[in-house]
Amino acid sequence: MKKIYLDNAATTPIRQEVIDEMVIVMQSEYGNPSSTHSIGRGSKAIIESSRKIIAKHLNCSAQEIIFTASATEATNWILRCCIKDLGIKRIITSKIEHHATLYTIHALLKEFDIKVDYINILSNGNLDYAHFESLFDNDEKTLVSLMHVNNEIGVINDIQRIGEWCHQHQAVFHCDTVQSIGKTRFDLQKLPVDFLVSSAHKFHGPKGVGFAFLTKKIGLKPMLFGGEQEKGLRAGTEAVHQIAGLSKALDMSFQNIDKEANYIKEIKEYCWQQLKENFPKIQQNGENTLYNILNVLLPFSAEKTAMILFNLDMKGIAVSRGSACQSGSIKPSHVLAEMLNENDIKKPSLRISFSHYNTKKEVDVFIEELKRI
Ligand code: PLP
Repeated sequence: MKKIYLDNAATTPIRQEVIDEMVIVMQSEYGNPSSTHSIGRGSKAIIESSRKIIAKHLNCSAQEIIFTASATEATNWILRCCIKDLGIKRIITSKIEHHATLYTIHALLKEFDIKVDYINILSNGNLDYAHFESLFDNDEKTLVSLMHVNNEIGVINDIQRIGEWCHQHQAVFHCDTVQSIGKTRFDLQKLPVDFLVSSAHKFHGPKGVGFAFLTKKIGLKPMLFGGEQEKGLRAGTEAVHQIAGLSKALDMSFQNIDKEANYIKEIKEYCWQQLKENFPKIQQNGENTLYNILNVLLPFSAEKTAMILFNLDMKGIAVSRGSACQSGSIKPSHVLAEMLNENDIKKPSLRISFSHYNTKKEVDVFIEELKRI
């Protein structure tokens, strides 16, 4: 059975060129990047050129990029340091952030004397910007943590507007860009953001590697203590092959960005048209969404909710109910819970997320199988 993978917001298949690059590095560049001999220096050079490639695409300084093992790690580090070391007393965020942000904030709330304000979410999944702006009515030292693109519904936040507002009010801005880096262009000379986090497996790179952008203007304390790696901020021998894979994947994403974005957009639009034709009462969850994520509320009874993913999976079709981390759980998605009414939240919603490897033929097979349920 040929598998159909429509769950690219959870993770993406690795590009063959990325695998090839990683194999070369694993075979030939085995030196410890901290060693001073030439074999070590070869590994170090790969890390530094990878850093430069990322910086070039984001238009920032290579010094501002720190490699991590995941975006979750980077977010944990940044949020904790902001509270512990920068004297932040209040966090403004939303209840539809990824759990990497939400659960870190829950943990910080237990440990530190801070307060959290949640921005209202509109029924179309967008932030209530008027509410956001009204929250800056005092001069408490504030950290704003808001994502760029929501991983479940694909809604795009206006991070330029958020960042400008933050900086006008002396607030620090952390942005989870896991779903947008590699898919949209960034110019960090123009975007007023202090911290970004990213993860290679979302843009056809390897799992277990990501990076943080930390603006030069704000000094963070180390996350791990030990060696001098990553300017002493994240000790531990670097995963050279992973880093090489990350930068190759990001480079290829940016080289192909327009072509692939247009292709994916067309597939998403085709899928949406076919869904509407076959299930006229279907609704889209979220407005103003990125070109690769389609979250739909199916006009099926609540009893069918549990069966859908299972039945599709039996046919080799991978889609997601909410975020990947929740697909095995029976809890409703925390994102949809903020947007949908009591009745709709019980009905089945599906997240279908595309990459340039998908085809319209695959969409047809998916729709046929959905019709059989
Ligand atoms: N933030 C968002 C929006 C995500 O989609 C994910 C991955 O599911 C993460 C954070 C966590 O990234 P990582 O897998 O690198 O920890």
